[in-house]
Amino acid sequence: MITSADVVVIGSGAFGASAAYHLAKRGARVAVLERLGLASQTSPRAAGLSSQVRATPSLTRLARRAVGKLASFTDETGQPLRFTQSGALKIARNERDAEQLSREVARGAAAGVEIDFVSIAEAQQRLPILGARGIAAITWSPTDCNVEPSELPIGYCRAAEKLGAALLPHTPATGFEIGAGGVEGVRTPQGTIASKCVRSGSTLTAMPWNDTQRRSRTPMAAILSSNPKPLSGRFTQTPTRSSRRSPLTLKAARVRMSHSSRPAT
Ligand SMILES: Cc1cc2nc3c(=O)[nH]c(=O)nc-3n(C[C@H](O)[C@H](O)[C@H](O)COP(=O)(O)OP(=O)(O)OC[C@H]3O[C@@H](n4cnc5c(N)ncnc54)[C@H](O)[C@@H]3O)c2cc1C
Repeated sequence: MITSADVVVIGSGAFGASAAYHLAKRGARVAVLERLGLASQTSPRAAGLSSQVRATPSLTRLARRAVGKLASFTDETGQPLRFTQSGALKIARNERDAEQLSREVARGAAAGVEIDFVSIAEAQQRLPILGARGIAAITWSPTDCNVEPSELPIGYCRAAEKLGAALLPHTPATGFEIGAGGVEGVRTPQGTIASKCVRSGSTLTAMPWNDTQRRSRTPMAAILSSNPKPLSGRFTQTPTRSSRRSPLTLKAARVRMSHSSRPAT
């Protein structure tokens, strides 16, 4: 096993694999630790829907950029990714949800995402199975897309590997070596990989937390920013927000499949 890396990425899902690829592309020596099979957990099980208008302007801009990345994924990485820009209808069933759609249309316009209200008749042209009852408002976003989710993380893993990243499946991160300045290495059952930079590839859930680490005020690791310059900082749990009820989203491509054998999602 390799003994040092510029960056150790923990987890090979969509987030970790993407981080590994983009870091390797910028010339970093990257090691990807994956406790199970490569790209085998949540990411390949997602529905693969990519709506662009999100809860905040910055998330909306980020999602818009992500759709651009998905569209050019194969050209950029050389890896296959089934990508369908089917567009999305979003249906509000009451006035409160219709107000949410109004805010989404405004947010989309501000971020340059195509989205607007359509009539029920227009929506039915795109989705003939749509009934007319119980609908307060409908939006149509023509550039929303969906992808085959199993191909994304493994594609980024393989592309990162071609750029020199070391992929280490069945190799869990079990702890950190901590020095005066922060992280100095990541422990695994096969040995320690010396590195001053660790990137959790699992929205921080990959980190081998214990109570001492949680309470510690010692910098635990460096998290890369996108430039990619290491930022000192402690890992903290991302606060969870209670999920709010959202208007229903229907993807045209998925619905078309429901005419044959698969249910609409
Ligand atoms: C049913 C379902 C449908 C979804 N649909 C959508 C959708 O339509 N659109 C959308 O945008 N999102 C969707 N999501 C959400 C999306 O799948 C997740 O946000 C995304 O996959 C998270 O990626 P990840 O890389 O953080 O996690 P994962 O893919 O789970 O990757 C994390 C990896 O870290 C590894 N790991 C954990 N701890 C360690 C350790 N100590 N050492 C080494 N490796 C470790 C795990 O084994 C795992 O492989 C859906 C999710 C589900 C469950």
